[in-house]
Amino acid sequence: MTGSLFIITAASGTGKTSLVKQLLATTNDLTVSISHTTRKPRPGEIEGHDYHFTEVEAFISAINECQFLEHAEVFGNYYGTAEQSVRTQLESGVDVILEIDWQGALQVKKIFTDATMIFILPPSIATLRQRLSTRATDSTAVIEQRLSGSVHEMSQYVHADYVVFNDNFEVALTELKAIIVADRQTLVRQQRRYQSTITTLLSNLTTD
Ligand code: 5GP
Repeated sequence: MTGSLFIITAASGTGKTSLVKQLLATTNDLTVSISHTTRKPRPGEIEGHDYHFTEVEAFISAINECQFLEHAEVFGNYYGTAEQSVRTQLESGVDVILEIDWQGALQVKKIFTDATMIFILPPSIATLRQRLSTRATDSTAVIEQRLSGSVHEMSQYVHADYVVFNDNFEVALTELKAIIVADRQTLVRQQRRYQSTITTLLSNLTTD
């Protein structure tokens, strides 16, 4: 396996999805895993692009058949990451982003111990409330439910390897990119990615 796994986690309304979208548009060899969810599509969301929208029964069957790398219940809906497609992408050398909640993130970290977990925080509760309201695709009750769950979600930042504050979008994007670029150059990742190059370099050195 040569690709790396990045887990991006944040409270709902932190701007994570927009950041990931921009990150993908400007970074090579990077993809995002499309999750399964039992949540109903929001206006404008497309099956297979935003999510694989799944009936509860089918989701539970997939759990029983161990098809998910991780799964969790978030705000009354199930969400899960299909294991096979993630492994296939990693094996083809592509880095994969999982845009998932903290419960799923902790499950993945147990399996992929060298996965890099990035937590995105909003600058304030007021900003979070405003962003959730501006989205306006959820009802007021759903917005309030999400906001009240946010503090507990945000307290999980301590499990992350990196923390990014999304106050200014461009700054947060630059910081996210910097994390990914730096993470790609660590010893372990470079050894994995350039195994044969390194072997050739070292064998040349010893025979010279
Ligand atoms: P939303 O319904 O707003 O798209 O997502 C709600 C929450 O579910 C977000 O925190 C999002 O990151 C999380 N989520 C999306 N896909 C997955 C997944 O596959 N697994 C887990 N554990 N959480 C997910």
